[in-house]
Amino acid sequence: MKTIIEITYLVSSVFFIFGIKKLSSPKTARQGNMFAAIGMALAIIVTLIDQDVLTYEWILIGAIIGSTIGVIMAVKIPMTGMPQMVGLLNGFGGGASLLVALSEFYKIMNFPAWNHDVKTDISIIVSILIGAVTFTGSLIAFGKLQGLVTGRVVKYPGQHAINALLVFLIVAGGAYTVIYPGNELLILAIAAISLLLGVLLVLPIGGADMPVAISLLNSYSGLAAAATGFVLENNELIIAGALVGASGIILTLIMCRGMNRSLLNVLVGGWASAGSGGPAPEGSTPKGDVKSVDAEELAMIFDSVSTVIIIPGYGMAVAQAQHAVRDLVNVLEKKGIKVRFAIHPVAGRMPGHMNVLLAEANVSYDKLFAMEDINDDFNNTDIAFIVGANDVVNPAARHDQSSPIFGMPILNADYAKTVVINKRSMNVGYAGIENELFFYPNTLMYFGDAKDAISKLTNELKNL
Ligand code: NDP
Repeated sequence: MKTIIEITYLVSSVFFIFGIKKLSSPKTARQGNMFAAIGMALAIIVTLIDQDVLTYEWILIGAIIGSTIGVIMAVKIPMTGMPQMVGLLNGFGGGASLLVALSEFYKIMNFPAWNHDVKTDISIIVSILIGAVTFTGSLIAFGKLQGLVTGRVVKYPGQHAINALLVFLIVAGGAYTVIYPGNELLILAIAAISLLLGVLLVLPIGGADMPVAISLLNSYSGLAAAATGFVLENNELIIAGALVGASGIILTLIMCRGMNRSLLNVLVGGWASAGSGGPAPEGSTPKGDVKSVDAEELAMIFDSVSTVIIIPGYGMAVAQAQHAVRDLVNVLEKKGIKVRFAIHPVAGRMPGHMNVLLAEANVSYDKLFAMEDINDDFNNTDIAFIVGANDVVNPAARHDQSSPIFGMPILNADYAKTVVINKRSMNVGYAGIENELFFYPNTLMYFGDAKDAISKLTNELKNL
């Protein structure tokens, strides 16, 4: 029986690995999700058979309540609320690891004859520490994105010294419990300090930087699960936790690279504290006049060109304009115009944000191009049509060393013959800085909510 269980765990891990592999392309992502779900189903079934389950009733009750909440959340949450939902789910993962580690501690304490060794004791401490930090850290991250907790960068005197002291207390307390096991008060104190540490580590991070922090917390939740795997001596949990831990940290680094920022810069609070969508920063002066067009004029311009690259950004997600954009593409293509999409790695507010929205609107994958695959083509393009994007097309990133986004790779929209920017106003984006592209001689501003404005444009084009 033991061998069958271990082999099933191995098969399930292979499903996880292939699932992750397939998630790396929009074409195979759904299949990847399915693979991972099959792997998880196998793991759950085998675990229920493997462990000495005393009663199945509580498991069933938990599964029904959990699944109901999960389904409601998944159906109700809007795409723009996805980062905080992921944050909350990471928190639950960390919380589960914390509870399992604590219950394992009580099991050992109440049944001294229970076979445990130093490795188990260390794993319990590690699991409590990472699980608790992930739990409260994720709740704060959720609160910041949901507007329940201040989204500002929070700074206070002695911040780093206090965090270092808390880490020291946890390590010292943990070492003591490993040497002298069974001290209930100490374990509870370690859990409480770890919970506090989670709050203090995430509270200082600006709300706009939260997606990066959430990705890091996702990695922590995997590490917590892996530590719990050592506590329970469950190989599947160790492998799955390590996969989440590793992929979470890789994703975090990709996001940081896409924004040209170091992880440390994000964690200690950096430029993004200005928040998104606010007015231009005080003291900044507009760099000249902008030329704006209405739907009718713009339709005539589009009608006369042969190549268009659409650059979607966060505003498309806010307006839920992806279906309107697809309708526009259909009309343009009927007129013989070649239309492609340029996707910046950090457009929107989470990795793959634009790909998911466009896939939802059935935009074919072969029209979607990653930045490095399309950036050289802007020179030969008639219109770069920017829909609710801002920072990812700001040329200041190339040349303005004083700009907070200097060095961030951007889409070369400004190299197109004409740049058309659709947004509601002259407001700044996530980085909180003015975009000089708005004032370029080849730029036309098309103001309005993306969904309405693009629908109007499509209608005008149909009438031509
Ligand atoms: P930005 O945040 O730079 O700009 C979005 C623009 O959308 C705003 O300027 C806003 O202007 C406009 N907008 C908002 N609502 C609407 C609407 N209803 N209709 C039309 N326009 C609208 O977005 P980008 O996608 O260009 O850049 C993403 C930014 O987020 C980058 O700075 C990136 O570093 C950061 N980031 C990305 C993460 C990721 O993983 N993708 C994670 C963390 C941060 P207005 O108010 O005038 O309409």
